[in-house]
Amino acid sequence: MKEFELINRYFTGRGVTRRDVDVGIGDDCALVNVPDNCQLAITTDTLVEGVHFFADIPPRALGHRALAVNLSDLAAMGAEPTWVSLGLTLPKIDPEWLEEFTEGMHEIAEYFNVQIIGGDTTQGPLTITICAKGTVPKGKALTRSGANVGDWIYVTGNLGDAALAIESRKNNWPLSESDAASALKKFHYPSPRVAAGQALRGIASSAIDISDGLLADLSHILRRSDVTAQIHADKVPMSDALRHSIPQDQALKLALAYGDDYELLYTVSQDNKLIMESKLHQYGVEPICIGQIQPGNDDIELLYDNQPWLLPESGFEHFS
Ligand code: ADP
Ligand code: MG
Repeated sequence: MKEFELINRYFTGRGVTRRDVDVGIGDDCALVNVPDNCQLAITTDTLVEGVHFFADIPPRALGHRALAVNLSDLAAMGAEPTWVSLGLTLPKIDPEWLEEFTEGMHEIAEYFNVQIIGGDTTQGPLTITICAKGTVPKGKALTRSGANVGDWIYVTGNLGDAALAIESRKNNWPLSESDAASALKKFHYPSPRVAAGQALRGIASSAIDISDGLLADLSHILRRSDVTAQIHADKVPMSDALRHSIPQDQALKLALAYGDDYELLYTVSQDNKLIMESKLHQYGVEPICIGQIQPGNDDIELLYDNQPWLLPESGFEHFS
């Protein structure tokens, strides 16, 4: 199969067709129309085999995940995802693999009404680079720089499951079959918080998606907003699978210091707290308050049961 046959078979005329696309796949560029009074939000994320995913990841999961992590960046800015382009580097053309991979990608693209408008296909080590575009009303995007002293800090859902999937595999932890399966599902099929991100426009003071770990991503907000934070580790939401599987302090370490969950982390003023909670409930999201923005630029203050608390330094060996 040649490159153009591959594109025809797996991309052209498949998936979403949006009315704001004048020219999609097939020309030198795509041509799209950005609505009046909107800004274009643009983000790129690359996934490399062996770095961002295990070589034996199901291709359907890879297609889903590659697009999901990009849509999560749009969600974090409050943008509505619209178009994506796909840079695909493949070691070889394997029709079965491509069928599954593109099915996984088209599925999530359809769910979020996103059109694949172009890309590039090359031979080399398996690498997926997606550039996702979205629109956001002018001046309404959520950024990392708006957190104010006294704002409450929220997350949109459980943290640490993706880390459990990765670390349990690396360290051979004896997880139950159902806990292992549910953690792996979170790693393979993350759900970007697209509706929640848009619902937070005009309400949250800052936002970011949790790709590198809660503490690391919170630090980005704190640095950009010139503030610090107090976090109640005991309030951080974790799945039953994570709670069952490993000792609690180690579970918290995964939830706080490891990434790949793609939940949103955001700040909201006292005045907007109630309206935020009711808006997110409309979208089926249960926002969890885990702390508060503080003045200064010291390190994040971690508490457990209101007492000072430190992340465990020890590794994971002792329960493997
Ligand atoms: P060019 O050589 O002009 O850059 P290509 O031959 O690379 O064009 O691609 C032909 C068309 O197919 C273009 O519209 C391009 O955007 C699209 N395309 C190429 N690879 C992909 C891909 N992996 N996914 C989606 N569209 C693709
Ligand atoms: Mg060209």
